[in-house]
Amino acid sequence: TKHFPVRRALRQLFSKQRSAVHAVDDVHLTLRRGHVVALVGESGSGKSTVARLLAQLYPRTGGDIRLHGASTTVHGGRQFRRYASRVQMIFQDPFASLNPVHTIRYHLTRALRVHGNNGDLEPALHDLLNRVSLTPPERYLDKFPHELSGGQRQRVAIARALGARPEALLADEPVSMLDVSIRLGVLNLLRDLKERLNLAILYITHDIASARYFADQTLVMYAGRMVEGGDSETVTQTPAHPYTRLLIDSAPDPDRLTGDVDPLDEDRGNGEPPSLINPPSGCRFHPRCPTAMPRCSTDLPVRLEIGDAPGHWAACWLYDREAVS
Ligand code: SF4
Ligand code: MG
Repeated sequence: TKHFPVRRALRQLFSKQRSAVHAVDDVHLTLRRGHVVALVGESGSGKSTVARLLAQLYPRTGGDIRLHGASTTVHGGRQFRRYASRVQMIFQDPFASLNPVHTIRYHLTRALRVHGNNGDLEPALHDLLNRVSLTPPERYLDKFPHELSGGQRQRVAIARALGARPEALLADEPVSMLDVSIRLGVLNLLRDLKERLNLAILYITHDIASARYFADQTLVMYAGRMVEGGDSETVTQTPAHPYTRLLIDSAPDPDRLTGDVDPLDEDRGNGEPPSLINPPSGCRFHPRCPTAMPRCSTDLPVRLEIGDAPGHWAACWLYDREAVS
């Protein structure tokens, strides 16, 4: 099969949000081609908001998103299409994201046309379905979304995203609505596409076990702020932030791809996530933190290096060496 040329190298997709929508604040992340970054947090943490800001589906109220070092702000349709051809989103619910009155052929044709492919589309349509292992393509092209399983629909959504020839995929809980038995297959497909097409992937999830499995780097988000980051192995094996520890301890089985429920759902007795409109002062986690100190309710923690592995950091006063010594 023919590989899509990827037009430009995505070296950096840089987001720096300050007081953005729903109090998503001070979010820094860099996506690199051929790498998966997981953004982990419970529902209401603002992780989907980050994806929508990066996709420029929401206007931001501050900060910057850069592609290859160049600032990007879209105004209007044409610029949006140009940006969207580089950065594509995959949504949680593959049924809601496909129009039920249109065939798979229609959805994929539209994606190819919007992003400038105007030739004979039949080979491109086959190529897209082959890429997501919906084969033979002719078996799927003229089906309607309801004739496919959830996993097949998500594969169509991925194929549609690839129709734009993107450099980056923003995947918002792409497997959490699928049967447990097929989640791994879809994640493995994304990993395979990442390698073959040299894509950058932002993988948004509340399932930290799947982040460990799938992502090179893991960032943990709580109440609109990033609280810990590092390579996935380090963050999941030796978590530093009390929230990350709670997330891992609450996961039903850290070695399984779970993700049916948010592990910290209120009915599990771990308290409620705070409102993003009016977040707690100081460390936003302090009302739930088992190791909170007096300063935690007043001082916003800065990012501190943990020092056990390069690039591992946590925004937590427990790691303030000056205060300790
Ligand atoms: Fe807990 Fe304080 Fe660290 Fe926040 S800064 S996580 S409240 S110890
Ligand atoms: Mg969400």
